[in-house]
Amino acid sequence: MRVGVIGGGISGLSCAYYLGRGGAEATVFDPAPGGPIGTVTVEGCILETGPESWLAAKPWAEQLIREVGLGEEMTGSNDAQRKTYVLRHGRFVTLPEGLQMVVPTKVLPVLKSDLFGWGTKLRMGLEVFRNPRAMPDRSVAAFVEDHFGPEAVDYLAEPLLAGVYGGSPHDLSAASVLPKFVEYEQKYGSVVVGTFRDKRKASGQSIFKSLKHGVGTLIEALKARVNVVRERVEAIEPSEAGWSVLSGGLWHHFDEIVLACGANRAAPLLAPLMPELADLVGSIPYTGSSIWTFGYRREDVKHPLDAFGFLVPKPERGAMMACTWLGTKWLGRVPADKAVFRCFSTNPDVTREAVQGELERLMGISAEPIFAVNHRWPESMPQYTIGHSFRVSEIEARVEHIPGLHLAGNAYNGIGIPDCVRNSKVLAERICQGA
Ligand SMILES: Cc1cc2nc3c(=O)[nH]c(=O)nc-3n(C[C@H](O)[C@H](O)[C@H](O)COP(=O)(O)OP(=O)(O)OC[C@H]3O[C@@H](n4cnc5c(N)ncnc54)[C@H](O)[C@@H]3O)c2cc1C
Repeated sequence: MRVGVIGGGISGLSCAYYLGRGGAEATVFDPAPGGPIGTVTVEGCILETGPESWLAAKPWAEQLIREVGLGEEMTGSNDAQRKTYVLRHGRFVTLPEGLQMVVPTKVLPVLKSDLFGWGTKLRMGLEVFRNPRAMPDRSVAAFVEDHFGPEAVDYLAEPLLAGVYGGSPHDLSAASVLPKFVEYEQKYGSVVVGTFRDKRKASGQSIFKSLKHGVGTLIEALKARVNVVRERVEAIEPSEAGWSVLSGGLWHHFDEIVLACGANRAAPLLAPLMPELADLVGSIPYTGSSIWTFGYRREDVKHPLDAFGFLVPKPERGAMMACTWLGTKWLGRVPADKAVFRCFSTNPDVTREAVQGELERLMGISAEPIFAVNHRWPESMPQYTIGHSFRVSEIEARVEHIPGLHLAGNAYNGIGIPDCVRNSKVLAERICQGA
């Protein structure tokens, strides 16, 4: 069976890899395979162009990494120094220990924290007395405010989720973004109680995993194992035998095709053939981001590098919303004589001056950086807004009736790298079984 895969981000590449393993002949089309995932080395520092890690609790990326022979390359974050600062009234306050996303699981660190006022601390304590109830899908902000109050939205939910989803908690769907907590609400009433009941034994493993020489090495390993045509797809068309794909001025013929190019890029390809489906797919909104990475001489940075970095909640925000202190979070990526800061902004057009000025003010730096590298990712983050799961069900129901056409990618059932790999693997297996 011949399968054309349009889009060679982690979803398209892993789909093609598993298709090949299942006996199909897959061809990936992408002018820039890898999407945001890539690694560059600057002045001896290993820098990521986009994602720098994945959640260790989700095993699917790890399984793929072992299969492509990179098992030995896997590494965990330096959790001995796992601490995150949050900017509050212009100064760094430590994020209390024991938080599972927005849910406090340890009493003392929250009580002692300067991040929240007493009103929020009291609400966090009283949350355990809630009764179970089922609510219609609502925004993450509404969900978190209902359980823990508005301060928990501004100083926890917003900065933590903006780094993953690049969107506002007022738009994101609680059912899609916090499914486990919504389940606890229905079952126990309290998400604190649910988290305690479900508390897995600590595995002693790092929370985040990565690859010693960067996540980009996974993309390189996959590219070496699948057939990649470095061209954009201009059009798709059903044919007698299956599907035809126009790329590089030529029509390529396949039995089946997978659109793994992002919902925003799939919509125009579908529009001439199936306008209603195209509208639905195109209704998934996107936001963008920008990463500015600055390297300094270690002696030029006054602030101790004693944490993974800091988050900037919306009420405090200037140019960036998060900053990773690379050498502390990942051992072996930054030489001892350097300090590297990865600054994340949800504005793809944020200027170097704005980010650098803010970084230098917060970190007490007065010297010039030895390097500054920018990676812009406009329109790269699909937004799981309220009603997302219904929208996706409707899309899937329609696609199911179109022979030989499949959708893959981060726009539908999971944003993180492990979810993308899992969904692509399941799809590839389904295609190979002719289901
Ligand atoms: C800045 C940033 C940081 C992130 N950090 C993390 C993190 O730390 N951990 C984590 O787990 N996840 C992270 N994510 C999310 C994760 O990286 C993405 O969800 C994932 O890489 C998406 O993969 P994908 O293959 O579904 O889509 P993409 O990677 O977007 O791939 C789509 C591909 O389709 C191609 N394409 C588009 N149109 C066409 C066309 N017409 N023809 C051919 N090809 C086309 C594009 O070139 C692109 O390569 C981050 C995302 C970003 C943007």
